[in-house]
Amino acid sequence: MARQPYKRILLKLSGEAAAGDGPFGIDVHAVDRLAAEVKAARDAGFELCLVTGGGNIFRGLAAAAKGFERTSADYMGMLATVMNALAVQNALERIGVDTRVQSAIPMASICEPYIRRRALRHLEKGRVVIFAAGVGSPYFSTDSGAALRAAEMNCEALFKGTSVDGVYNADPKKDSTAVRYEQVSFDEVLNKDLKVMDASAIALCRDNRIPIVVFNIREPGNLARILRGEGTSTIVK
Ligand code: UDP
Repeated sequence: MARQPYKRILLKLSGEAAAGDGPFGIDVHAVDRLAAEVKAARDAGFELCLVTGGGNIFRGLAAAAKGFERTSADYMGMLATVMNALAVQNALERIGVDTRVQSAIPMASICEPYIRRRALRHLEKGRVVIFAAGVGSPYFSTDSGAALRAAEMNCEALFKGTSVDGVYNADPKKDSTAVRYEQVSFDEVLNKDLKVMDASAIALCRDNRIPIVVFNIREPGNLARILRGEGTSTIVK
């Protein structure tokens, strides 16, 4: 399906993508593959910013369910996103892509603090900006961080890289009759609780008219393909 061409997009990389086939942690080869996807899109002329998740290392909610105090657990989760951001930065710089990491929680020795105007300048100079630490507050997710940064950076779309090729009416890994949506509205996603991103992230994208493109990031070359308007994905708008 031909899509309107985007110039600037935000790519949300969940922690799962950095873990590769493993259950958790950072798989260097998986991160290298993600970096190759980003480089291909950047080389094709797109401006990209990334938001890294942290679920491959630590999830606040899961730890809180086992007795951790929620806010400290969430701060640990946010620190995990910084580790992933550094891993992605490292992989990108090794293949010649200029990057900057900006964290919502300032950590001066490790990366830049999040400064919107500086991030915009980086993008204009062709650098890939990697946003870490979500929105910087507990009780949020990196999906919400992705929606927020996409709005702040004037991105034309939020690309959500997953391990399936779009949004289905049931889990395609469990139900062979599941059907993929070509396009689905924000309200339908919210009303049917379709697994795209959490509700606050969906609402933020809806209210700011930022379409969400759900696609399979594990398929080599897929990000650039979808950006060209080819390949299989679901657009939420
Ligand atoms: N987190 C948070 N505030 C944010 C972003 C993330 O508290 O703005 C914490 C939260 O504990 C979450 C963890 O960081 O579980 C990792 O982020 P997330 O679960 O969104 O990562 P992903 O599922 O994308 O790998």
